Amino acid sequence: MEKKPFVTKEQIEEIVKTHPTPFHIYDEKGIRENARKLKEAFSWNKGFKEYFAVKATPNPSILKILKEEGCGTDCSSMAELVMSDRAGFHGNEIMFSSNDTPDEEFAYAYKIGATINIDDITHIPFVKKACGCIPKRMSCRYNPGGVFTLGESKEGFQVMDNPGDAKYGLTKDQLMEAYSTFKAEGVEEFGMHAFLASNTISNDYYPALAKILFSLAVEIKEKTGVKLSFINLSGGVGVPYSPDKEPNDIMKIGEGVRKVYEDVLVPAGMGDVEIYTELGRFMLAPFGHLVTKAIHEKHTYKEYIGVDACAANLMRPAMYGAYHHITVLGKENAPLDHVYDVTGSLCENNDKFAIDRKLPEIEMGDYLVIHDTGAHGFAMGYNYNGRLWSAELLLRENGDVTEIRRAETIDDYFATLDGYWDVI
Ligand SMILES: *Cc1c(COP(=O)(O)O)cnc(C)c1O
Repeated sequence: MEKKPFVTKEQIEEIVKTHPTPFHIYDEKGIRENARKLKEAFSWNKGFKEYFAVKATPNPSILKILKEEGCGTDCSSMAELVMSDRAGFHGNEIMFSSNDTPDEEFAYAYKIGATINIDDITHIPFVKKACGCIPKRMSCRYNPGGVFTLGESKEGFQVMDNPGDAKYGLTKDQLMEAYSTFKAEGVEEFGMHAFLASNTISNDYYPALAKILFSLAVEIKEKTGVKLSFINLSGGVGVPYSPDKEPNDIMKIGEGVRKVYEDVLVPAGMGDVEIYTELGRFMLAPFGHLVTKAIHEKHTYKEYIGVDACAANLMRPAMYGAYHHITVLGKENAPLDHVYDVTGSLCENNDKFAIDRKLPEIEMGDYLVIHDTGAHGFAMGYNYNGRLWSAELLLRENGDVTEIRRAETIDDYFATLDGYWDVI
């Protein structure tokens, strides 16, 4: 799929007068349209709700846009629970799908009425102690083990991921035990959750996952008498980071899940189970850009362009070797007749946004858009080399630009040293 930025060179030249690069910018229109499409794709399910994975883009302005589109939040930590609460999400609008969870986080989740999704059988007594009771609405994260594959293709089974190696979730036996224990403890609403593959570019992932979970839900009802009220398909629906990939068709995905629902749940008398999702990447990644300026060119054994952003602003290329498409603003139609490594300033040779990338000739002062940074982009930032967190901006539907988080300052960076300069 062709990759086009949602901002022009002219817009960026205007924005940098008040907000110097680097910064992350998000596209409100794109976010809203996409959220509406997801809702439509699952509109056949009465209780459908998307719980946006806050860890992907932890910014209250983004959360509020999604709230207006009918989403809740999915949290993994205390800070994300607090952010959801302060952004106006309450009770059942908050899912708490964490792992290795500290007791004060369970206690706080319970206090604000979030739905707790346990990651292990031992979390039942742990939650009971932390919260003073077992909450009336509880969920379990399932891990089927083994290798998760999608139907056979010419190359054999397409391996999606390896749950047997993943630290998350309960085994099937533990799941049965957990629901029985919940019932004995007076739990009234039960849910199930599983996250088996990440960034899937396939319309078959959710339907395949749904088949596993829906069949298991029927078995749980038969074996324990517990009838689930919701099934959470979690995250994992991906986006095409490179132009050679085609985006998922969310309408087809919704329709695929509906078919399995009709085949498996409805005949078992479970036609009222609510379907939830916990998407992060799919909701936000394409609707964020990291905008950065070319400040150095270097000709040694390779051709380098040094930009004013670094891996501290976007870790995915350094961490996973992830591809992020780059557009040089104003040169969208120029020939890709140069080959560059595009680098940041960290004292780490993996601080490269692109390696051997074909791009138009880059001149100093050119603005580069690094695509698909709206999820797991800013969020994974860090301060290595004393590099500071960038600002986050929002391109409004009417074309205005609103700052939704200021850039970090040197004083912010030193704030945790206040009072400690003369300790020794
Ligand atoms: C990270 C995460 C998500 C979101 O994953 P995406 O790949 O961004 O869709 C959802 N649920 C849980 C529990 C997660 O850890």
